[in-house]
Amino acid sequence: MAIEYRKCVRVLPVVLLVGFSLPGLRSSPTDGGAGQVVAAKGLADPSFPATVRRALKSQEDLRAQPEHCSADRAQLGMIGRAVGQQVRIYRDETSFALFTVSEVRDEVPNSIVRMGRSGRDRLGEVGEFAASVHATAPHPSLGDADAEALGELVERLDDDGKHRGLIIIAPHGGRIEPHTDEQAERVKKALAGKPVSSWMCKGWSNVEGITPSERWHITSTDIHEASFPLLGRVIGRRFAHAVSFHGFQREAILADVVIGGAGWPCVKEELRKEIAGSLDPELRVVIAGEKDPLNGNDPRNIVNRLAEGSGIQIEQSPRARRASWRSIADAVARVYRSKL
Ligand SMILES: [Zn+2]
Repeated sequence: MAIEYRKCVRVLPVVLLVGFSLPGLRSSPTDGGAGQVVAAKGLADPSFPATVRRALKSQEDLRAQPEHCSADRAQLGMIGRAVGQQVRIYRDETSFALFTVSEVRDEVPNSIVRMGRSGRDRLGEVGEFAASVHATAPHPSLGDADAEALGELVERLDDDGKHRGLIIIAPHGGRIEPHTDEQAERVKKALAGKPVSSWMCKGWSNVEGITPSERWHITSTDIHEASFPLLGRVIGRRFAHAVSFHGFQREAILADVVIGGAGWPCVKEELRKEIAGSLDPELRVVIAGEKDPLNGNDPRNIVNRLAEGSGIQIEQSPRARRASWRSIADAVARVYRSKL
């Protein structure tokens, strides 16, 4: 889930139109409708020119999921990607977004990429259009200030390479779900000296009318370690504990903090008490029910994959994060201090 607090700032486009390719990875020429290759500054990743078309009637998943697309199996393989992984799709230098390839097909011509209406909307076009598909998800080399100015996505890992204690994650930090990355950093700092790692992504948009969430959000059950190389370093570790911080978009209807994940109910109750006790009583803290869409209990959820059986997901309303992101992070740190 995502929230946007302020309007994005318009800056001069900083993206270059280039026709680069890596030796041996450039796709074969495709039909005349395929797009030119467009890429962000500093990125020289494998890519192929594409033609974005409407989802087929049979592709119900694409029509329901704006973050999903299908692509030609061989073309995807040419850029080193596979089904389930993430790709960037560029319509032009300002209209681009991160997608999960939820299906591979054998397309003729092989440049065809398919999306539902809501997916095409993310690229600012409801019809069919030329585009380019890139292998890179987070930008591999930008600092935070440059990433913000460029409307980019970056990935961060703070890890000693070996411990199996706690990992705190924020997959939608930066301006995608504001303050969640700061919460992960705060817990890591509060538990200095303990076996704790943090992993997060931070995303921004530099184009008015395109939110960071529209550009970069990938749902937690889809995040693939092959597309997030720093995550790939820790995904097989099997941590004893994992906690993810998230933000949902709507102001609270039933609750401001929803504790979920596949972890133990007793740990969720401990967290609920500690967080509720540190917040304004107006902010309601609950444990997600079985059918709650925010319950985060899917085994494919990245937090549950990092700590099998003990993943905890903390979803927070805009007002909870605005007013109390520090208090919530501090409460989480207090609960885990005794477990490490
Ligand atoms: Zn999130």
